[in-house]
Amino acid sequence: MSTKKFLLSENQMPTHWYNIVADMPNKPLPPLHPGTKQPISADMLQPLFADELIKQELSTEKYIEIPEEIQDKYKLYRPSPLIRASELEKALKTDCKIYFKYEGGNPSGSHKPNTAIPQAYYNSKQGIKKLTTETGAGQWGTALAFACAQFGMECEVYMVKGSYYQKPYRKIMMNTFGASVYPSPSERTQAGRNFLASNPESNGSLGMAISEAIEMAVQSDEIKYSLGSVLNHVLLHQTIIGQETKLQMEMAEDYPDVIVAPLGGGSCFAGLVFPFLEEKFTKNKSFRCVAAEPASCPKLTQGKFMYDFGDTEGYTPLLPMYTLGHNFEPASIHAGGLRYHGASVLCSQLLKDGLIDAYAINQNNCFKAGTLFAKTEGIIPAPESAHAIAQVLAEVERAREEGRSKTILFNLSGHGFVDMMAYSDYQEGKLQDVGLMRKVLKKALRK
Ligand SMILES: *Cc1c(COP(=O)(O)O)cnc(C)c1O
Repeated sequence: MSTKKFLLSENQMPTHWYNIVADMPNKPLPPLHPGTKQPISADMLQPLFADELIKQELSTEKYIEIPEEIQDKYKLYRPSPLIRASELEKALKTDCKIYFKYEGGNPSGSHKPNTAIPQAYYNSKQGIKKLTTETGAGQWGTALAFACAQFGMECEVYMVKGSYYQKPYRKIMMNTFGASVYPSPSERTQAGRNFLASNPESNGSLGMAISEAIEMAVQSDEIKYSLGSVLNHVLLHQTIIGQETKLQMEMAEDYPDVIVAPLGGGSCFAGLVFPFLEEKFTKNKSFRCVAAEPASCPKLTQGKFMYDFGDTEGYTPLLPMYTLGHNFEPASIHAGGLRYHGASVLCSQLLKDGLIDAYAINQNNCFKAGTLFAKTEGIIPAPESAHAIAQVLAEVERAREEGRSKTILFNLSGHGFVDMMAYSDYQEGKLQDVGLMRKVLKKALRK
């Protein structure tokens, strides 16, 4: 009988984060100041982020030590298990081996506390009293609310309006951890009032919610802003996932041929994939890395590589990334965590250099795959994670066509226990597959 679970003990947990910038063949282009078009300096980020996080954002050091206080908090739910999806394999009648790293077994039910905890820690150490942030489906807001509670800080969350009403339990989770939650666009900020003036019916977007959270943060020295994905320091913190997985694949005496993860802004993809890419760069290992994105928000497969704002109002520096344009308002699909107009600078550069692949997936396809996974492996996946599962099924088909048996590893980034309405809509045939019209795409990119 084969082993199903690969578990690490607490004292095997990695003690450093991995910074891929040190090893990338082409370094990422610098973020630019929107006015001067010159690379931004650390002091321009100072109103938004804690000093230590800015240092990490700009760092080229290969390994960054995880402070003991953060390791202690990680131990509330880490190390996380690597699981062989043997029941799924049987159902698919495949001789491929499928493994998943499960990041759903923690206070917010997704990978996001891996960066929420360090972000709250560095801010609280610097005397910051409150963090503001955006959230899409609510996983990030929940993670930051929990992390702020751990360090005795206040937390203010702008939640994309569509999700706020679709997922009321997420709001209650955030409230339970002590956060205040507002539907975005709101009347609380100038940016929110601008968005509402141009479209009173707006369902909101991550880009808009980011503008609101930033605007609130820059008004006081005691408040800073926190982002749940996209930025280099966020991706850095998530590399704890892949570093654990490397140890666990060793325990399994196996190595992936294909690594799959969903991609919203890029942090859960980076978290699993980057530590493996290190072995591609330094040990010539060969495998494919595949990002699964929603067909309704396909920045990697249909977006353009260019400098764009990270938010809708234009408060952030200009970032070199694959983007659908910062005004793009994605349809209200259920995978709210993937509805971001751009992809992180690091993931974008790797895609541009042909080091990773990307596929876009329809939501009905995701829920079909997610349902099969639930029946076989017993975990109902988050809609975001179901994108990765749909892609894994496609990879199994591909292996069959190639007549090969492959080892496929994916990031089960979270559970879907707070997404039951989405599963219900799927079961009742209410979900629409929203593609992206060429016309809409052109218009968004032109703006
Ligand atoms: C937020 C989220 C994602 C997307 O993560 P990114 O880091 O933005 O790509 C994927 N899965 C789950 C469960 C999430 O909560």
